[in-house]
Amino acid sequence: MTKTALVTGASRGIGSAIAEALCEEGYLVCLNYEKSEDRALEGCSRLMGRGYRTMTYRADVSDPGQVKDMLLKVKEKLGPVSLLVNNAGVSCQAQIQDLTDEMIDRTIGVNLKGQINTIRYAVPDMISNKCGNIINIASIWGLRGASCESLYAATKAGVIGLTRSLAMELAPSGIRVNCICPGVIDTDMMAEYDDVTKKQLAFDTPMGRLGTPEDVAEAVRYFAKEGSVFVTGQVLTVDGGFAG
Ligand code: NAP
Repeated sequence: MTKTALVTGASRGIGSAIAEALCEEGYLVCLNYEKSEDRALEGCSRLMGRGYRTMTYRADVSDPGQVKDMLLKVKEKLGPVSLLVNNAGVSCQAQIQDLTDEMIDRTIGVNLKGQINTIRYAVPDMISNKCGNIINIASIWGLRGASCESLYAATKAGVIGLTRSLAMELAPSGIRVNCICPGVIDTDMMAEYDDVTKKQLAFDTPMGRLGTPEDVAEAVRYFAKEGSVFVTGQVLTVDGGFAG
């Protein structure tokens, strides 16, 4: 069976580094994106230039119809998805009383419903093939909470619950489900923070620096490899010791 991976939110940041790592691990990779078409195409052609087989697909993961079409198209072009990395996410910083309906729908829609959507459309082929691997990207905020990020933290706590539940539900079908909780990683998502805050966050990290997208991609690589074949339902923090 072909090793086919779908990485959501792979136009930039952590998702882009994950797509590259999975190509290096021998996967055919679909880079999903929503808005950043130029960056997705650029990433795809860079990987193809290195001899890897990749494709891009625009889909808003919060929209079940678009996700269903994406899974069909990936199957047609690269084969059924055997590795799904649920990475697409949006941040939301606000005090609870200031949240708007739009913020709530968008954050839950992308971060939690988005992962449920991709999983429910990817799993039937995995069950038929008695083989599958799902890696969900949550956050240390989902483990420990974060002031003024309660909505974001709640979606990420939901991802952790989803992971642990599906690991039990899908193990008899030969499907593993694990979760990675990044700490503070230097990507566009950090753009809302000023330099002083970033320096403080690096100082608060026992390892003394912010994480990189590659730090997270290395953890994905571990779960993607055969060597972790007996590992499921796990929540791995990649945070330089931040969460303790
Ligand atoms: P980022 O640089 O802001 O990138 C976010 C990615 O998600 C982009 O590729 C974006 O695609 C995609 N995306 C957003 N909404 C989407 C949608 N509706 N449908 C499909 N794709 C969508 O963020 P990042 O830092 O790499 O974060 C990646 C993941 O790690 C997220 O789940 C985030 O919550 C998690 N995380 C990040 C940190 C951190 O400190 N950076 C910490 C913990 C957890 P387009 O640009 O094409 O729309």
